[in-house]
Amino acid sequence: MTDPTPTKSEGSQSLWKVAVDAPLPEALTYSYAEPLQRGQLVNVPLGKRKVKGLVLGPAAPTATASEFKIKSIDSIDEEYRPLPAPFVNWLEWLGNYYLHPVGQVVQSAFPPLRKTEKQRASKRAPVIPQLDADTELNLTDEQRTCFESISKYSGFSTHLLFGVTGSGKTEVYLRLLDKVLKEGKRGLVLVPEISLTPQLVQRFARRFGDKIAAMHSQLTEREKTNQWWDMVDGKKSILIGARSALFCPIEDLGLIIVDEEHEPSFKQDEKLKYNGRDAAVMMGKMMNCPVVLGSATPSLETWKNAQEGKYHLHTLKNRVAGRALPTIEVIDLRQQKADDDQQKLIIEKYSHLPFWLSPALFEKMNEVLDQGDQAALFLNRRGVAQMVVCPACGHTRECPNCDISLTLHAGSHLICHYCDYHENMKARCPDCKEGEMEAIGLGTELLEKDLSRLFPGKRIARADRDEIQSRADLEDLISDMETGAIDILVGTQMIAKGLDFPKLKLVGLVLADVGFNLPDFRATERSFQLITQMSGRSGRHVKEGESPGYVIIQTFNTEHESITFARNHDYEGFANNELSIRGALNYPPVGRLVGFRIQGPHLGKVEEAARLLARRAQSLKTQFPQYSSMEVLGPAEAPLSKLRGQFRYHLLLKTSQNNVANPFSRQLLGDQEWVPSGVKILVDIDPMNL
Ligand code: ADP
Ligand code: ZN
Repeated sequence: MTDPTPTKSEGSQSLWKVAVDAPLPEALTYSYAEPLQRGQLVNVPLGKRKVKGLVLGPAAPTATASEFKIKSIDSIDEEYRPLPAPFVNWLEWLGNYYLHPVGQVVQSAFPPLRKTEKQRASKRAPVIPQLDADTELNLTDEQRTCFESISKYSGFSTHLLFGVTGSGKTEVYLRLLDKVLKEGKRGLVLVPEISLTPQLVQRFARRFGDKIAAMHSQLTEREKTNQWWDMVDGKKSILIGARSALFCPIEDLGLIIVDEEHEPSFKQDEKLKYNGRDAAVMMGKMMNCPVVLGSATPSLETWKNAQEGKYHLHTLKNRVAGRALPTIEVIDLRQQKADDDQQKLIIEKYSHLPFWLSPALFEKMNEVLDQGDQAALFLNRRGVAQMVVCPACGHTRECPNCDISLTLHAGSHLICHYCDYHENMKARCPDCKEGEMEAIGLGTELLEKDLSRLFPGKRIARADRDEIQSRADLEDLISDMETGAIDILVGTQMIAKGLDFPKLKLVGLVLADVGFNLPDFRATERSFQLITQMSGRSGRHVKEGESPGYVIIQTFNTEHESITFARNHDYEGFANNELSIRGALNYPPVGRLVGFRIQGPHLGKVEEAARLLARRAQSLKTQFPQYSSMEVLGPAEAPLSKLRGQFRYHLLLKTSQNNVANPFSRQLLGDQEWVPSGVKILVDIDPMNL
């Protein structure tokens, strides 16, 4: 690593590299007379400001450095001891890998100001619920096998705990944590923000009581500060939190768990665009401890690593206690032709139903509700879902180059958001030559309205981003589902995740096509995950011998891979099929992808910058043979082409080679002096949301 002997400059002053909060790719050089340590927090002048900085190590006197007057460090921050060296290594890795200024990366790890004891008393509900302790469950054979094989490892190793929904992954996590605590080490548990509900925190608190600290976005600054210091001071042994919990420097880390590791929300889409799951694996490597990634539907990235032996695979094939997986029925939404009188009668009988509600789903809802159980309907999109489809054959248009759905613009214009391919929407279906292509719009509000007409007297709740804006809203909804105060739940995928409702017996996916027609190369994977996760909400508490939960998937495309594999609960079949499709087009995880967003208030300048960026990429490619595998897609308008007064374009880089994406991107951006003024270029390594 770094040379431990600091460089002497004028007199006895030594030079130090200090990461400060500024958009500079490198740390700055400061002088200080006393010896300093890597990881130490210091106060330094920056322009006219006084800021905190992190000492990265001694600096060599360079020609450039000596040209400027080197400023000196004001003081050492006494409140906090130096950050652990492996933690500083991890911060530097983040900056290097995600091409983000190291000074801005380290800001996230600075300690919040300690509050005095008096201020600590808070009137709000406690962050960690006080509860009756529970006792360990007797592990099933499968759980025991997974627990024992993972607990053999104490150094860095990555494990995939692949267990169907309801297979008891959490109990395995609890046992692993218990073991780590008994060895005098501590644990970090990352979960998607949305599943960080009291339901989940309670399960941990029941087992570990006041050894738990929790961190999520709904805590007040003071609560966050308290949780942070409790962890850093060693008062707590397990931190459970959303991705940002990674930035709490924990010493003696013995285990990192990432639950629902496939969740796209582990990726941060602003500022430092890191993937919390990948960063957690790197943290395990730096801290030399095992990392467990858990999911019923692992991301293809993780699955591929497990297949190649980079990650150890541990499988839970069955739900606990002989509970059955739900039965999945697929309903074809394509126009049914009335060939005989009986069919005519059926069509007549259900003519009052809106197009999105099939007779099968309608009847099943009635059956479940009559028994006093609950039904939930999901629509895989917030706001109004738009898709262009032939109602006769289910055909949808895809980009001939990119294998992603085209997006409808200005009435009749179809565009590929990856490569900028354009075509006009044809009136007649180009596939079956019978149906008329139709733009369908559907939203949760409309579903709710139709349902209240069709199920008078039933209590209907809507859960989407408009209705559920705070943690308190979500908690109210959960408790209403638990107590049975809701009969029918209507919502977007935000409620499909991780929740456990005993009375929920029927789950309906209203229009599965919305999911797999999203203009994203991961649309099929997301769709498969969603179908599986949603189905996993159904019938979680049926007893052995009781009829299992029920799932109805409505679609114009019954043969879509995300449906055919999900219906058979066949993750492996799905993953292997999808990996071969990804490979053919060099999409991740077989290839690598980097996204660049070009944005600014003047459309002309944004377009110019986007073209310049593409041209630079092409010329780098021809100049350097090691970059010949780079493919440049676009520039194209971003799916959100204007946001808060900023015009947005994007450019994608794709490559079959693993190790060139990062250096290529670095070189491509260069010093950014070539970027027209007023335009900003943001880079996204391994993007998730395109
Ligand atoms: P997953 O996270 O895999 O979806 P959970 O950990 O939520 O599954 O477990 C599902 C349910 O099974 C929970 O109610 C849990 O308490 C219960 N459970 C887990 N392990 C056991 C076990 N060994 N014996 C009995 N019940 C169990
Ligand atoms: Zn395309």
